[in-house]
Parts: sequence; structure tokens; C-alpha cells
Amino acid sequence: MPRALWLPDTLRAHGLTVHETPGWQNRGSSTLNPSGVVCHHTASAAGSDHPALGTVINGRPDLNGPLCNVLLARNGDCYIIAAGTANHAGTGGWRGLSGNSSVLGIEAENNGVGEPWPAHQIDAYVRLCAAMCDGGGFTPDTVCYHREWAPTRKPDPAGPGIPSGDEWRRRVAEALTQGDAMTADDRAYVDAHDLKILIELKKTEVRLTERMKFKSRKTRAEIAALKADISALEAKVG
Ligand SMILES: [Zn+2]
Repeated sequence: MPRALWLPDTLRAHGLTVHETPGWQNRGSSTLNPSGVVCHHTASAAGSDHPALGTVINGRPDLNGPLCNVLLARNGDCYIIAAGTANHAGTGGWRGLSGNSSVLGIEAENNGVGEPWPAHQIDAYVRLCAAMCDGGGFTPDTVCYHREWAPTRKPDPAGPGIPSGDEWRRRVAEALTQGDAMTADDRAYVDAHDLKILIELKKTEVRLTERMKFKSRKTRAEIAALKADISALEAKVG
């Protein structure tokens, strides 16, 4: 997987609001081959929504951009920054992973020195991690905090509202399950669709039964198959 071009669609599928920054597809090197996620905070001043946007795209004097794959704004919106490897994790590792090319990076807007994390931002953060597991094909076990990746160097993410790493992974796993589950609307749509198919099958059954008058062995086999389909659909539609 040289570039994570699936990011916007997968994040949207997990109910997130996504903004694609111009050029994200070609930003970062194509060495990216992610098997995990490292979670960060931006240490930006509190008050505005996504003040670190320019920095995470362009980098800092001491570190070339991009500095993450996705920036999570204070309002919970996701900004797609890079489909390639970003400079975010640095020296360290987590459960056998090491190097920036092995992990996707999320920078979340928070000052990291006591600013409370709003519930809607935490909810989006967890779903963003779940979406990355989904799109990248790895499990929540390899989602970690930067302070778990580099315990002696890094404190992030920090602040009121950030649980333990284990609790974070539990929530990501939960979100991943919910992401797979159909909503009530989806269920209703599928049931309505099944009902239409059932009506068509019953019409076909009537036609074939007419043909049974000719007692063809092929027709009897077709009717038997059809009755099995009808029973299965009737059980499903209830
Ligand atoms: Zn960090």
C-alpha cells in the first residue's frame, strides 16, 4: 500500500466530516506501508478550530512537512493532509512497529497543557482511529499514543478527556464493531429490497407451476430451487 488514497472515502464511511487539502494525494513519500496509528496533539493555542493546518502541511524549521496524515480539528472535522509517509512518530516503536512509514499519524488540535478535550472531538478521534484500522487492514492493538511510542521523549496526547491507552484501544475496537453494523435506515432499505425480490420470486413460482402441467423434470428442479429461495427470503423479511 504505497499511498493511503482510501483515507477520505473510508473516513466518510465512518461518519466523519472530511476536508481534502489540495495536493494531499501526492504529499509525503510513497514509502508508507502502515500497520498502525500514532495519536498526537498539536500543542496549538486554544481558541480557534484548526490553527495548525499550515504547520502540519508545510512543517516547521526543524522538521519537514507533512507532519501527519490527518489533522483533527477542535470541532471534530478531519483534514486530509497526506497520503504518503508523514514526519510524526520519530524514534521509538509500538508492538513491533518502528519508523514513520509503518504508522499513520493523527494530529489533534489541543494545547496539551490542560485544555479540556470536548466529547465531540474525542468521539471523532476514536472513530478516526477505527476508520484507519478499517482502511489500513490492521487491528486497534496497533493504535497507540505518541507517549506510548516514545515514553521518555513525548507527553502527547494529554489533557482532561484523554483516557489510558488501553481504554483508547478498547473504544476504537468498539467503534470498529459499530461501524460494521447496519443502521436502522440501512436495515429498512434492505428489508424493502428483499420484499420486492420475494414478490418477483412468487410470480415466477406461479408461472413455473403453470408449466408443471407439462411435468418437465427441469421445471420441477427449478421450482424446488425457487421454493428454497422463497423460504430463505421469507425467513429474512419476517
Ligand atoms: Zn506527537
